[in-house]
Amino acid sequence: MRNWLSNFGLDHPLVIAGPCSAETEDQVVQIAHQLKDTDTSVMRAGIWKPRTRPGNFEGVGALGLNWLKRAKEETGLKIATEVANANHVDLALKADVDVLWIGARSTVSPFIVQEIAEALAGTDKIVLVKNPVNPDLPLWLGAVERLHQANIEKLGVIHRGFSTYEKTKYRNNPEWQIAIDLQSEFPDLPLILDPSHIAGRRDLIFDVCQTGLDLNYDGIMVETHFDPDKAWSDAKQQITPQRLEEITKDLRIRKTTLDQTDYLEKLKALRTKIDVVDEQLLESLGKRMRIAEEIGALKKENNVAILQSKRWNSILEHMITRATEHQLSEDFILKFLKAIHEESIKHQNQIINP
Ligand code: PEP
Ligand code: MN
Repeated sequence: MRNWLSNFGLDHPLVIAGPCSAETEDQVVQIAHQLKDTDTSVMRAGIWKPRTRPGNFEGVGALGLNWLKRAKEETGLKIATEVANANHVDLALKADVDVLWIGARSTVSPFIVQEIAEALAGTDKIVLVKNPVNPDLPLWLGAVERLHQANIEKLGVIHRGFSTYEKTKYRNNPEWQIAIDLQSEFPDLPLILDPSHIAGRRDLIFDVCQTGLDLNYDGIMVETHFDPDKAWSDAKQQITPQRLEEITKDLRIRKTTLDQTDYLEKLKALRTKIDVVDEQLLESLGKRMRIAEEIGALKKENNVAILQSKRWNSILEHMITRATEHQLSEDFILKFLKAIHEESIKHQNQIINP
């Protein structure tokens, strides 16, 4: 399935860029001309905008298709937009849109995906499926399968992160592991990273892109606007075409060259996977410590001793059983838990005797 990517004949990952939303004809055409001088092959612009809350700009609608067509004619860039129902698909196909993507709020609904798949049946356009808003791999795979069943050959996926109730530094938590699992299941399905919706702020875009490339992603989709702060949607995460150019120049792209053997390639990808898991470990440890502190505060209020050996022994017993299920030795898990316990007690002590 990666062959549609090779049709682009690129020696670097595919770059899809353009504004979150098409706003005016001038805006679309001007951005297209600026992108023409970058590594961008496909210009994106949303014309039907799914907004979480009503009352925000909901896109210019079908009118924007003419603007995208003009951008394509003047610059030679391919064009991409989001479709969320059968009517959008019909209009986009009529306007000869080259790449159609299914948004995160549509991927969650098998009814909508089925409707879109039927409207697209047999098309030779490129169709990309964004991950669903919630961290659910089968839902994402299910959408890809529905499109595959509709005989869409040029398929790919876009990783745009997952929403969490808890606030993290990202707008949408990357949960890299989910995309890595998808990649292992469908190694031939092109995987494109959307750092803009993951980051939610422009200063994180470079690092998110670098992690994606280190994990062997096939491309990036970056929201780009000539005046990001004035964009009608997603202003904080958009970057200028000039900044996009700097980013693509500075990114380390792994190429298979003579001195970079298969072994080194694989090692690098595995190391990046380890880094992702380590990051998750740190986050979990931090979370655990914050809860321990809350317990400390509660004990203080109620004048209760910090060390509760009964509780600690039951944690140990439970964790040793669980650890063997994960092929971790008792000796290792005891040392690990002891270190965590000591750190928790330190944190609780700080709360009780500040
Ligand atoms: C978008 O690409 O502008 C968009 C609405 O994305 P998502 O579906 O990932 O929220
Ligand atoms: Mn957006």
